[in-house]
Amino acid sequence: MENIDLDHMDFSLVDQVEKMSKTNLNLCWHCLTCSGGCPISEEMDYSPNSVIRMIQFGLKEEVLKCSTIWLCVGCNNCSAACPNSVDMASIMDSLRQIAILEDACIAEPGILSFHNKVVDSIQRYGRAHKFEIMMRYKLSEKDFFSDIDLGFKMFSKRKLEIFPSKVKDKKSIQGIFEMAGELS
Ligand code: SF4
Ligand code: SF4
Repeated sequence: MENIDLDHMDFSLVDQVEKMSKTNLNLCWHCLTCSGGCPISEEMDYSPNSVIRMIQFGLKEEVLKCSTIWLCVGCNNCSAACPNSVDMASIMDSLRQIAILEDACIAEPGILSFHNKVVDSIQRYGRAHKFEIMMRYKLSEKDFFSDIDLGFKMFSKRKLEIFPSKVKDKKSIQGIFEMAGELS
């Protein structure tokens, strides 16, 4: 990390994240349990517990534009293993939401685009239609061939249905999305 610029420290993220994630950041004693058990930590630019420290040091801009918050897959390993019940998965989720709300420079725009397509599919059908999600994602990224082997494998194992199946009670799904819209 570059030297900390004291003129640009912004501590507002502490409050924002604590309110959104319902987690007290001061409970973290940096034991590294979360980072050690995170399946993605080697790909991240900052380890999960370092993100907490950066928030506390007022490095708001650096946190919101780091790749860690987008590479996190929300597996919940960290939250389940934390000895102090710090909900790291929820902290990561809150940071993604704040980054979008504040129009931060998104470190992994492809992941955000994929995420939006998954959510859109669930909103339309009540469940994720993988084939359509992959097609829409590939078209938006103009990347048609990089995962073609994987696509064929999924087809052969009947993991990709060409036509979407819809849930019967779509009204309840719409209700969840409306509730989420009111909360955001
Ligand atoms: S496991 Fe909990 S206490 Fe330990 S570093 Fe991670 S968040 Fe902090
Ligand atoms: S929820 Fe995110 S930060 Fe936590 S272990 Fe999973 S990938 Fe890592």
